[in-house]
Amino acid sequence: WFDVSAPWLERVVKRRPRVQLKAVNGVSFSLRKGETLALVGESGCGKSTVARLLVGLYTPTSGHIEFDGEPISKLHTREGKSLRQRLQMIFQDPYASLNPRWRVARIIAEPLRVHGQMSAAERDARVDELLEQVGLSATDRNRYPHQFSGGQRQRISIARALAARPEFLVCDEPTSALDVSVQAQVLNLMKRLQRELGLTYLFISHNLAVVHHVADRVAVMYLGKIVELAPRDALFERPLHPYTRMLLSAIPDTSGAGKPRVPVAGEVPNPLNPPQGCPFHPRCPHARDLCKNEMPATERHDETEVACHGISQGWIALNEEGIHTP
Ligand code: SF4
Ligand code: MG
Repeated sequence: WFDVSAPWLERVVKRRPRVQLKAVNGVSFSLRKGETLALVGESGCGKSTVARLLVGLYTPTSGHIEFDGEPISKLHTREGKSLRQRLQMIFQDPYASLNPRWRVARIIAEPLRVHGQMSAAERDARVDELLEQVGLSATDRNRYPHQFSGGQRQRISIARALAARPEFLVCDEPTSALDVSVQAQVLNLMKRLQRELGLTYLFISHNLAVVHHVADRVAVMYLGKIVELAPRDALFERPLHPYTRMLLSAIPDTSGAGKPRVPVAGEVPNPLNPPQGCPFHPRCPHARDLCKNEMPATERHDETEVACHGISQGWIALNEEGIHTP
């Protein structure tokens, strides 16, 4: 699958090197085996760029990305074949990523053909097994993508992603094109597959309800930078960064406390021309002069990593609004 797409994607990267350079800057995290790390933020914050960097679709202009001790840059080399098999990506729009002229069996078997030494009969058996695993049936193998619902098509792309038995899946808004009830079914399927197969997910979403449902840890991105990274419960119960608080106050309150829903204020500035200093300062209710001039460093508070002058200098009280109780 990567082999097929690589020449085209390399051209894209070569044509737009400066876009990559500025789209993501100051992003550093590691994934633990078997966990789901969610990457959240408004559109244009660089989430998809990070996803594509991780699976080698984009090449970073500086820094490094490693998977299990191996540089991701190896993906494009001949020795990168086993690495390619261990990483897969699931996209937002399953229809766009499924070839409409291929039957489901061929779509799911394609990575096996590219990666493996399986015989045609072995591939057939594996396709049937995958269809069952994602909640479809072996009788679906001869149908075409347009004959399935959106949720079923996402199941097909999950089956294809799992075909070569990967360990790590980058999921870029995998359910955001689906109806809410279908979303929950696909998310539960992904959680079950993670448990059964020991998968590790990087889960990209702008939807905090979805993130709360799936994530072990959450990284909040703003204009190409991770501004807060914390275990899920710490982030939802004790958000530190003003941007995280803004995102959380915009979702309906489910605690029954009757807190008003506050819309997210202001627009995301152009990511190619981010503001000086803290990128959030034009929208931040706590901004001071320091924020306009200096980029805040990332610091650790309990289990949370956060990049905010107000937190590190103490002018944002941690127990403000009862949000943080140290
Ligand atoms: Fe707000 Fe300043 Fe913190 Fe940025 S560094 S989030 S502007 S208080
Ligand atoms: Mg995106």
